[in-house]
Amino acid sequence: MSLNIPAELLPRDGRFGCGPAKVRPEALQALAGRGASWMGTSHRKAPVKDVVGRIRSGLATLYDAPDGYEVALGNGGSTQFWDIASFALVERRASVGVFGEFTHKFAAALARTPWLDEPAVTRVEPGTVALPAPADADAYAWAHNETSTGAAAPVHRIGEADPGALTLIDATSAAGALPVDLAGTDAYYFAPQKAFSSDGGLWFAFLSPAAIERTGRLTAERWVPDSLNLQLALDNSRSDQTLNTPALATLFLMAEQIDWLLAAGGLPHAARRCGASSGHLYGWADAHPLASPFVAQPYRSPVVGTIDFDPQVDAAALAATLRANGIVDVEPYRSLGRNQLRIGMFPAVDPADVEALTACIDWVLERTV
Ligand SMILES: *Cc1c(COP(=O)(O)O)cnc(C)c1O
Repeated sequence: MSLNIPAELLPRDGRFGCGPAKVRPEALQALAGRGASWMGTSHRKAPVKDVVGRIRSGLATLYDAPDGYEVALGNGGSTQFWDIASFALVERRASVGVFGEFTHKFAAALARTPWLDEPAVTRVEPGTVALPAPADADAYAWAHNETSTGAAAPVHRIGEADPGALTLIDATSAAGALPVDLAGTDAYYFAPQKAFSSDGGLWFAFLSPAAIERTGRLTAERWVPDSLNLQLALDNSRSDQTLNTPALATLFLMAEQIDWLLAAGGLPHAARRCGASSGHLYGWADAHPLASPFVAQPYRSPVVGTIDFDPQVDAAALAATLRANGIVDVEPYRSLGRNQLRIGMFPAVDPADVEALTACIDWVLERTV
């Protein structure tokens, strides 16, 4: 049975994925316009280096980066950064907070790294947040936003940690949306295909002076493949380049999004917009007899909303119906295995479209339950 949702109920843009996530049409138009003669030119020449420079200085402005913090970038996305961190940022042992698939993946990567000790792992069931416990560790790692579950964690240094320990924050789905005080972090790293409304393939990181110092030391002491060498990445970043060829379109869209965010009021504006979207979604779910937010307060993410459904609702069928009507990527994270929808509400998403989405869900539920 196929259900056609009335056109007047549909969101103007049906992309609610959590990565790749909605790219703003205005940025794509700029790519097809101004970008048309820029694409396909050298990443070692001024026009591309200027865009990288715009990104690096734009990020520093957006985050009010403390003195001495630097923006590094390279190829390979956040997954690559986990491996980079195991070479250049974790000296002997990390303590990790695991509260979903992405935090688990970094902990697993550290556990497999032959020159590191088994990490200390503080784990909780999906749906809440675990910060790493104070331990015999030189690095503390968790995610600002667990994209697999929709739980947002506080970001600050762990009290009782060794003062020399580094704080490594996976901000892949938080950066560009959630405010943070970078002084509480040593590596705040992310990829551009989520809140930065760009495409995948690159990683970015704010590095503190302590992280830069450790990177220099560990990459001099250890054998490090060039593609995982954070010192090489930093050296190239300082001249607005990457070690090897980056995806130019990703850079272009990222620069457009940063400019858009800065012009609109920066992270406070982004946070208000995501707060409007998520406030509506969670309010709707709280009031709905068949729906409820999966994550308890105070950890409900303003950017990734996970909504559980009553067993009489087939959430997978609901997602399929929405998809057939052009509302895409609201399926839950693969391995979570819940009767759930997951909705990306990054700054590029119009809060009015989140309202339209819940109206569409209501419309489908009235006809299927
Ligand atoms: C998407 C995501 C990743 C993986 O990013 P890639 O760029 O695909 O490697 C890692 N961590 C978090 C929190 C994410 O949301």
